[in-house]
Amino acid sequence: MTAQPPPGGAAPREAAAPGRLSWHVATLASARQESATARTLVFDVPGWPGHLAGQHVDVKLTAEDGYSAQRSYSIASAPDRAADNAAPGGAATLELTVQRLDDGEVSPYLTDVLEPGDQVELRGPIGGWFVWRPSPQPPLQLIAGGSGVVPLMAMIRAAQPDAGQAPAVPLRLLYSARTPADVIYSGDLAQRARAPRFSLSYALTRVRPAGPSARLAGDGQFQPAPGPSVSHGRISSDLIAAAAWEPRVTPAIFICGPSGFVEAAAGLLIGAGHDPAAIKTERFGPT
Ligand SMILES: Cc1cc2nc3c(=O)[nH]c(=O)nc-3n(C[C@H](O)[C@H](O)[C@H](O)COP(=O)(O)OP(=O)(O)OC[C@H]3O[C@@H](n4cnc5c(N)ncnc54)[C@H](O)[C@@H]3O)c2cc1C
Repeated sequence: MTAQPPPGGAAPREAAAPGRLSWHVATLASARQESATARTLVFDVPGWPGHLAGQHVDVKLTAEDGYSAQRSYSIASAPDRAADNAAPGGAATLELTVQRLDDGEVSPYLTDVLEPGDQVELRGPIGGWFVWRPSPQPPLQLIAGGSGVVPLMAMIRAAQPDAGQAPAVPLRLLYSARTPADVIYSGDLAQRARAPRFSLSYALTRVRPAGPSARLAGDGQFQPAPGPSVSHGRISSDLIAAAAWEPRVTPAIFICGPSGFVEAAAGLLIGAGHDPAAIKTERFGPT
């Protein structure tokens, strides 16, 4: 996965190159299942310098024989969870959400094997382009494919520290997943979307909702309105027209997911009239 640089601009200060960052020993404090295949890992990380919403870390696993494997994972927790929770000399809390790939080397270990008390090495925070800072901002348009929702969730949590209150800026999340069981953070998102100024739309690629007025509840079940809207199929111009801000709103746009999904979504938004300079993308893929 690569984060695209700002067009024609110097990388912001936070765009630290991984080589200049140090490794931290992180201890798994707890874990929770987020979907059929995704698990959130809550790490205690002594000396963690804090992060911005949208940044990621490198995770390194080392076997007893010295073999090591490294992958990138977005930070799911809001920036304040890490920085503010750090007692002097204590550990900050950092959350990652990992989707298991059945034929993967690292992700099945993180989702199925790692237990509280186990340690990994983390390097970061990495990335200065695909970030969102909670200050006076235009409305937010977030578009996620699969586990691409993870860095967008950090942005949502930063914009809406209290899930029961309206976010600091009006935001819309369009989230594409295969089935309801694959939706990550469904309960949290359902709760947040009940607040004013938060619009949540799902697009399911492998399951057809029960009727055009069906909604997707936080428990992954279809229900009558109210609730987050849900449609069937891949992201399309019709879906963008129905679920995204209009170009005249000039939202800040963040798109994250598999490469093909990100390219399709960005192309559809530009085709709908959005300014390409307002669109930031990040692609998940092999690292
Ligand atoms: C900056 C960045 C942030 C990321 N954030 C997250 C995150 O928050 N949560 C998360 O679950 N993943 C995230 N990823 C993807 C993650 O780094 C790994 O690629 C993923 O966990 C697979 O690793 P693996 O060792 O299990 O699979 P591998 O053994 O590396 O690959 C197994 C097979 O799956 C394919 N594959 C590898 N990665 C992907 C992928 N992402 N999608 C589809 N097919 C793939 C490979 O081509 C191969 O065929 C991120 C990637 C990057 C670059």
